[in-house]
Order: sequence, then structure tokens, then C-alpha cells
Amino acid sequence: MPSSRPALSGPIPLPVGFVTRIISRGQGTRSLCCPDCSVSLNLFQPDEDEPARLLGLCETCSKWVFLVEIEPDWSKVLLVELPSSDSVRQGLEATPAPRRGRRAP
Ligand SMILES: [Zn+2]
Repeated sequence: MPSSRPALSGPIPLPVGFVTRIISRGQGTRSLCCPDCSVSLNLFQPDEDEPARLLGLCETCSKWVFLVEIEPDWSKVLLVELPSSDSVRQGLEATPAPRRGRRAP
């Protein structure tokens, strides 16, 4: 294997919680909305083969969410709020580094 691979640390137990919600959509409601500002989310499907998994992005508050279809036609949806990059960085700073197996030179 080439040695130009990026160095990968062991798993880090970040103390960053995920807020999850169940969305039940009424008949005729087509859009999925941001839990904070109720604005329609921009939806992305990163994996063509996985139409039941989407990423949602709120243009107003820049929140990212992970959306999983639970019932057909997105009538019931699991919404997982992804932590902001700031809270991830803060969580990382507050977490002791794991024991390193290998270190990049
Ligand atoms: Zn929002």
C-alpha cells in the first residue's frame, strides 16, 4: 500500500449529542422543514442507491440534518440533527486524545 494514506486516529468518543426527532407528515405536505426555523430544507441524496437516506441543509441557520425514511413516501421520517462544526471542534478539544497505535511520520 502506498504510504501517502492519511493518518487515521482510533475512534474518539466525542461528547457531542445528536438530537433526533420523528416527523409525521400530513397529507399533501411535500417539504421537510428545519426544526429550528421551519424553513424548507434543501435536500440532497448523496448515494443514488439509497433514496431513503437524505441530507438536509437549512439555508437560514446552516443546520445540517440526516433524514431517514421510516414509512413509505416519507410520511414518517427520522430526523437527526448533525452537530455544528464548532461544537464538534469544542467536543474534540474537551476530549483526551486516544492512545495512538501508529503515528504518521
Ligand atoms: Zn434552520
